[in-house]
Amino acid sequence: MFCYQCEMSSPNGCGSTGASVGTCGKDENLARLQDIMVFGLKGLSAYREHLNELEPTQTKRLDDVMSETLYFTLTNVNFNFDNHINQLMKVGSAGVEVMDKLSNAHTSKFGIPTPVTVSQNRVEGKAILVSGHNLEMFEALLKATEGKGINVYTHSEMLPAHGYPELRKYSHLKGNVGKAWFDQADVMKTFPGTFVVNTNCIVPPKSNCGYLDRLFTYKIVGVEGSTPIEENDFSALIERTLQCDDADGWDAVTTLNTGHHYKTILTLAPQILEAIRSGKISQFFVIAGCDAPGSAGNYYREMAENLPNDCVIITSSCGKFRFNDIDFGNIQGTDIPRYLDLGQCNDSNGAVEIAKAISNALNTPINDLPIAIVLSWMEQKAVIILLALFSLGIKDIYLGPKPPQFVNEDIYHFLAQTFNLHLTGNAQEDLENLLIKKVL
Ligand code: SF4
Ligand code: SF4
Repeated sequence: MFCYQCEMSSPNGCGSTGASVGTCGKDENLARLQDIMVFGLKGLSAYREHLNELEPTQTKRLDDVMSETLYFTLTNVNFNFDNHINQLMKVGSAGVEVMDKLSNAHTSKFGIPTPVTVSQNRVEGKAILVSGHNLEMFEALLKATEGKGINVYTHSEMLPAHGYPELRKYSHLKGNVGKAWFDQADVMKTFPGTFVVNTNCIVPPKSNCGYLDRLFTYKIVGVEGSTPIEENDFSALIERTLQCDDADGWDAVTTLNTGHHYKTILTLAPQILEAIRSGKISQFFVIAGCDAPGSAGNYYREMAENLPNDCVIITSSCGKFRFNDIDFGNIQGTDIPRYLDLGQCNDSNGAVEIAKAISNALNTPINDLPIAIVLSWMEQKAVIILLALFSLGIKDIYLGPKPPQFVNEDIYHFLAQTFNLHLTGNAQEDLENLLIKKVL
């Protein structure tokens, strides 16, 4: 363990010389559980901020959980393991609540997304590329750039914006460029226009990156040398964009699909249920989550491309960029796509809503449905999503691509015992284990 939060801390921090219990009596497990709470709160705070921008009267319960949980982690407040688990589940429930409320706020303001095919890496004229999760800012930008001779493109977690009717009605919203957040430095070296990052995840640019004077940041996001956008005043961004050269040589012909919000998928419920009953759909695979640099994320591509044709992939977040270039087609004999992109990471609640609808229709508990869940985590939004799933009692999750360093052996054992949590291993072996273990 390591803790240095109070005056009673040992020299260099309790636990720094190998002790498993701090001066106050907090042990390794409680210290780790409190870390997980704080990491969950970090993820929760991001979604809470977006909700607060759209529905400021809706955050009271979330704010209460956040302050209560922080209080819980103070020195000499609580040393009870079960109380720690209960508090973690409370954080998880707040995660469910914030995702539901944010999803409803998005659909009531921008309409319910519907499936759309988006051009990929094709850029025309003067161009702005937007990365992040903030749809409200994105709408304001589309309004401000309308009729200005500027085209707007999405990057990473902004891809799902194309599905929302009130956003895609702008004809200068043209397409998507690049993949998950971490390719932004490579993309911007050659992208002909300006780049806006409106939430995490920004890659700090090097001083010689060549695009610092074309980089704009929004609200909480900031790096040395970028131009902050204040109070939705996009005039400097527009001016800089118009100084850029027109795109040249960005004439790719590839496409991506998105816009399968759960509210749209639920309108397909009769066809989906019929396909399950007739055996045309054998299983759903939720393959979703963050993405990070390196080859470890190839696990998710290997999993997706080796699924039998009667399996449906439900995805969200930026982990999908590992495999969303693949044409998965439809379930044979139906119009049901095999690849469903629910949206951003905060739209992960959609997988639960779809599972609940199938569960109710088939009168089968969610954990007994033929749904495999294989998640990737990178940062703390993934922690709140995982806690949210645990708080709903969802079991049998595979988590990867690397084990979280903040989970020690005891806590991992507890999660494995209580929620049947697995860590990902070899994609082919995991797939063998996951395929149709649950038969209706
Ligand atoms: S809270 Fe406990 S474990 Fe942490 S520094 Fe203080 S005495 Fe040590
Ligand atoms: S899904 Fe996760 S890793 Fe990807 S941009 Fe969103 S927060 Fe960052």
